Amino acid sequence: MKIIKPKDGEILDIELEESLLRKNKEIAEENKKIFNQYGIKAIDILGSIGSGKTTLICQVVKKLKKEYNIAVIAGDLTTKIDADLIRKNGAKVIQINTGKECHLDAQLVNEAIKNLPLKDINLLFIENVGNLICPAEFPLGAHYRIVVFSCTEGPYTVVKHPYIFKEADMVVINKIDLAKKMGVSLNKFKKDIKKIKPSVPVIGTIAKKGKGIEKIVKFLKNA
Ligand code: MG
Ligand code: ZN
Repeated sequence: MKIIKPKDGEILDIELEESLLRKNKEIAEENKKIFNQYGIKAIDILGSIGSGKTTLICQVVKKLKKEYNIAVIAGDLTTKIDADLIRKNGAKVIQINTGKECHLDAQLVNEAIKNLPLKDINLLFIENVGNLICPAEFPLGAHYRIVVFSCTEGPYTVVKHPYIFKEADMVVINKIDLAKKMGVSLNKFKKDIKKIKPSVPVIGTIAKKGKGIEKIVKFLKNA
């Protein structure tokens, strides 16, 4: 079957994209320096809309808010639904509304951290915009990236998004109670993930019920 791919001739676009990504990387390094300077552990949470990123963050915040001073940067196109939810669970929240932009970039995060009381924070979650594609290309300066996907996203979620799973420091398979109903196999998911990144820890959760959250908590404490 004929496969259509982008042409090499689109040089202008490629140059533009390269300089954009280079600039983003520079600012990401700057962000990381700021996090290190203030002793902040920063975690980028990536995953599609409805995968359970916000629920997961809320559950982790609940478990860790006594031990850590937690802040969350919530990325979203236009709403503040997630930010309000997270705030209720006991974290400081800064909202970034990206408008039409389908991912967070390092510059937006840089602006957000200027609005946080950095001295009073030692754990920061950055909830990326719901998307498994372009956030892979835009590091934000976080120390770790946790990729979340749910069993409801179908059997090919991993194999169709190799770039983002390559970037993951931990993979969370959420809504594992729905695996059977959805006809997906957790073992197959794990195999697919390990093929892309053999070293990455993979855990299963039912975030809504708090199941599996302690494994994320343990990862974060040792991180
Ligand atoms: Mg969310
Ligand atoms: Zn994007």
